[in-house]
Amino acid sequence: MFQITFLGTGATVPSAERGLSSLLVEHGQTRYLVDCGEGTLRQMRAAHVGLRRLDVVLLTHGHLDHVLGLASLAGTLELWHQGDRLDIHGGKDALEMARVLMEKVTFPDGHPGLDVTYHPLSPGCFRDRDGVRVSAFPVRHHDTDSFGFLFEEAAHQPLDGDKLDSAGVPNGPPRQALARGEPATLPDGRTITPTEVLGEPERGARLAVVGDTEDAGALADAVRGVDVLVIEATYRTKDKPTARGRGHLTVKDAATLAKAAGVGRLVLTHQSDRYDPEEVLAEARCFFPETTIAKDFDRVRVEAQPR
Ligand SMILES: [Zn+2]
Ligand SMILES: [Zn+2]
Repeated sequence: MFQITFLGTGATVPSAERGLSSLLVEHGQTRYLVDCGEGTLRQMRAAHVGLRRLDVVLLTHGHLDHVLGLASLAGTLELWHQGDRLDIHGGKDALEMARVLMEKVTFPDGHPGLDVTYHPLSPGCFRDRDGVRVSAFPVRHHDTDSFGFLFEEAAHQPLDGDKLDSAGVPNGPPRQALARGEPATLPDGRTITPTEVLGEPERGARLAVVGDTEDAGALADAVRGVDVLVIEATYRTKDKPTARGRGHLTVKDAATLAKAAGVGRLVLTHQSDRYDPEEVLAEARCFFPETTIAKDFDRVRVEAQPR
């Protein structure tokens, strides 16, 4: 299970209701910050998500509304000794922007307390640890080298309650040992191994996050079958010419992608305050009923859904 916290859901310029692009993906003790628009630090404080264990930042692209908050976030991590490393993953342009913010703005005299590493992305898996694979896929948006991100939780095989009961495994330490993958010794002296009481394998949750893009059709394979797709929808469908001119999607583009790719649920972000969110939602649901519009501080659980 992943949990998403939306920290900024606005498009290009912050409004009273919406900060700029940023969301936090959490899985167990692992945290990934996707984009870090201006004001992300303040949004994190307002959302009470804290700064501890925040050491992985994924950048969809280098436009300022997605990266400017890195300067204050990194400065505060160092100031408050909230970690000793920061791994920033992004395309070439995004990393160059991050490097300027780090080295020219926040830490012109160096940052001995925070080890910042820049990881250039290319398509494919770039991180596989703690039960989660994270992959990047290319995204078209103006002339940037943009990427979207796919988070895939490892399949797991939980204990089967019926098998535990019929083997006579009592609640408490014996079941806890089996859940940790260790053999358990029962009060009557028998030893039960985990393989004797495992249930059917279950697939893990899958989540795709896309930043700005003008070409939803090209993403169908990359996001196929995910449980949740988070993607921009900056313009209403009637404003398609403007959307294309500015390198963005319409609501219909995003919803049509969700349908074509068979995703479980669609969450639209990068919202402009020129529109009424209820009208945007109604429009999206005409094409894909399982749609919601993200608001700042919304939390969304991503679980593997049976299909
Ligand atoms: Zn943007
Ligand atoms: Zn952009």
